[in-house]
Amino acid sequence: MSNQVIVDADRCKGCGICPSVCPKGCLRIGTEINLQGYEHVEVVPGSVCIACGMCVLACPEPRALTIVKHTEEEKSCTSA
Ligand code: SF4
Ligand code: SF4
Repeated sequence: MSNQVIVDADRCKGCGICPSVCPKGCLRIGTEINLQGYEHVEVVPGSVCIACGMCVLACPEPRALTIVKHTEEEKSCTSA
């Protein structure tokens, strides 16, 4: 299983910071409007998150982004 970045769309204000800092191009501003009235960020299909944490560090909105990091240890556990 690969790393995952999870977007809580309704906490995002669509500021565009996280797409600009992601070194792997995993994030983009979409066209759907969230409950706050913003076009929120979304995960780019097929992108590969390296769980660097840059997006979470840069985001000004608490808990808008969450990184789920999968280690080699977890991989061997799930495949056993
Ligand atoms: S953790 Fe790093 S690679 Fe993954 S989406 Fe955030 S900035 Fe991009
Ligand atoms: S940095 Fe945070 S508020 Fe800004 S677009 Fe990304 S998730 Fe949304």
